[in-house]
Amino acid sequence: MTSIAVIGAGITGVTTAYKLLLRGFDVTVFDRQSYAGMETSYANGGQLSASNAEVWNHPSTFLKGIKWMFKKDAPLLVHPAPTWHKLSWMAEFVLAARHYEENTIATTQLAIAARRHLLEMAETEGFDFDAEQRGILHVYETEHDFAHARKVNALLARGGLHRETLTPADIARVEPAVKGDFVGGFLTPSDFTGDIHKYTRKLAEACIRRGASFRQDADVRRLTSRDGGVDVTWRDLQGDDEKREEHFDGVVVCAGVGSRRFAAELGDRVNIYPVKGYSVTIQLEDEDSRAAAPWVSLLDDRAKIVTSRLGANRMRIAGTAEFAGENRDIRMDRIAPLIQWCRIRFPGMSTAASNPWAGLRPMMPNMMPRVGRGAQAGVFYNTGHGHLGWTLSAATADIVAGEVAGAFTRPAVAGQTMTALAA
Ligand SMILES: Cc1cc2nc3c(=O)[nH]c(=O)nc-3n(C[C@H](O)[C@H](O)[C@H](O)COP(=O)(O)OP(=O)(O)OC[C@H]3O[C@@H](n4cnc5c(N)ncnc54)[C@H](O)[C@@H]3O)c2cc1C
Repeated sequence: MTSIAVIGAGITGVTTAYKLLLRGFDVTVFDRQSYAGMETSYANGGQLSASNAEVWNHPSTFLKGIKWMFKKDAPLLVHPAPTWHKLSWMAEFVLAARHYEENTIATTQLAIAARRHLLEMAETEGFDFDAEQRGILHVYETEHDFAHARKVNALLARGGLHRETLTPADIARVEPAVKGDFVGGFLTPSDFTGDIHKYTRKLAEACIRRGASFRQDADVRRLTSRDGGVDVTWRDLQGDDEKREEHFDGVVVCAGVGSRRFAAELGDRVNIYPVKGYSVTIQLEDEDSRAAAPWVSLLDDRAKIVTSRLGANRMRIAGTAEFAGENRDIRMDRIAPLIQWCRIRFPGMSTAASNPWAGLRPMMPNMMPRVGRGAQAGVFYNTGHGHLGWTLSAATADIVAGEVAGAFTRPAVAGQTMTALAA
């Protein structure tokens, strides 16, 4: 049986492992954490949002970014230290504006394709992940922002996404809990939300039931291409810490912000930058808070904040983009605007019991995930999903598993289809 190592047990690694198992591979997943889904796939915004498929490489975003640099509580923060990685990434980010339209449309198509795969895996394996299928509501407080959103909407429509344009009265009807001086909004009925960590953990359990091996607490030190396959060198962080080496016929790199280093070892350039974001998970401890919290997921365009209701008693609020390298510190001055926003939008909801979190979005300069073969035989990538890893992974996992199957000339399992990934 052909052996494949998957590096990383976040949402991309675990969905990839599952799709490889369906195609008959012998799968081993490596992760330095003790459990699956402990890094970026832990407490994100929760949105499965084709409606958020607009890539950020747009001149209006560059201008906003420059203004935000001088505002303390802005959604964007760029650490002033000019590292080569940051500067080269930003230069590529600006150049990728040439592909803004086609990449936005391609991301929309991929996000729509991903829904079926994501729901199918949960249904087949019979697990719950606090999914709320109530759509996602985008709200705007200025005519200027709403006008830009209409243009974006035209691109999303070209990608096949149906959305409803809302008046302020419609917004109040769709989600009575949200307060604001809105000029309009969009509802995307087919978008939904769920708990990424629960999903990743449950799918990892399903992979184990289907025969995968999970090496947790396994810090992968090096990937070496050899004899048409790959050597994985790792240390057991909970055991003897001795260096171990295993050979596989192939590898799929799904290591989030760690993927760039592995790619360099394997002769590929995968220019992922870690873009930090924050979330707070609020426990809705009393009846008033539960009633005052929204059920419909929101994206507040100006504040760049998203919300998800994770069952009756939990609500997640997430946002901000911070360019500060591989730094996972939770800064309370970045958490405070999230809480403050919540108190303004949902005044009756207590924020007393809230858990702050920070995660690193593995972001490519053109905002498109790196999916497919590397330069060396047996090397594949499914990584760099940036702000949309939860939304896109189920589809890109299917694509990369299809490519691996093609490379090892294995027949696809009946019922599994390859989804097309645009540019
Ligand atoms: C604040 C915030 C809000 C977000 N909101 C949304 C949202 O609403 N919707 C959406 O679609 N996306 C959202 N995202 C993005 C999404 O969470 C990520 O794109 C996704 O979780 C990335 O998954 P991943 O598997 O690529 O990375 P990870 O989950 O980080 O997984 C990579 C794994 O690789 C392992 N690893 C790395 N290096 C090594 C090594 N050397 N040895 C062993 N293991 C290693 C890590 O331990 C980790 O478990 C958000 C992100 C943030 C930060």
